[in-house]
Amino acid sequence: MELLKSTILEDGYILGDDILKVDSFLNHQIDVKLFNEIGKEFKKLFSDVKVDKILTIEASGIGLACVTAQYFDNVPVVFAKKTESLNLDKDLYYSEVYSFTKRKSYKIMVSKKYIKEGDNILIIDDFLANGKAVLGLKDIIDQAKAKLVGAGIVIEKGFQDGGDLVRSQGINLHSLAIIDSMESGKIKFR
Ligand code: 5GP
Repeated sequence: MELLKSTILEDGYILGDDILKVDSFLNHQIDVKLFNEIGKEFKKLFSDVKVDKILTIEASGIGLACVTAQYFDNVPVVFAKKTESLNLDKDLYYSEVYSFTKRKSYKIMVSKKYIKEGDNILIIDDFLANGKAVLGLKDIIDQAKAKLVGAGIVIEKGFQDGGDLVRSQGINLHSLAIIDSMESGKIKFR
């Protein structure tokens, strides 16, 4: 997606060897116009699959998933929660995700009310690095006996393992921008 790539080149910056900061349009401040184009693009890429619900993880996935849902006949968005609280349902699906950016594992939870057997689920997330977030969400979808129909990622870091891992599991993965390298401060797209 050319608009996304040019925005990454203009506004993204590289932290260390392998983290891309895109806070100015994706992870902190949100470029709503760009999000709309992202939503349209996901609809194009997944136009041939039946989608009943979009599943993501808080927090950065929520805005993307909501904008995208509008292009899928306003299907509901469910987001996995990362923290337990008193007002969260007790009947939950759990999975464990190792966070690449936080360097530690955390639990993700989805109420059993919101994913049902047979639901066709599209995963939407901001980044794909080592694939743990997508596979954690898939684990929850499997526990619910729902069907994973695809995974839409905004930025895939192609030099990490997630893309291969997710594709090798037969998941219908589409990434809007794939970065092959970020060496010497230069971003190279696939
Ligand atoms: P994975 O589970 O695929 O290893 O990592 C995906 C998650 O980690 C994404 O949901 C995103 O929040 C975070 N993440 C991984 N790499 C990056 C990165 O380079 N930049 C940012 N902003 N987030 C990242």
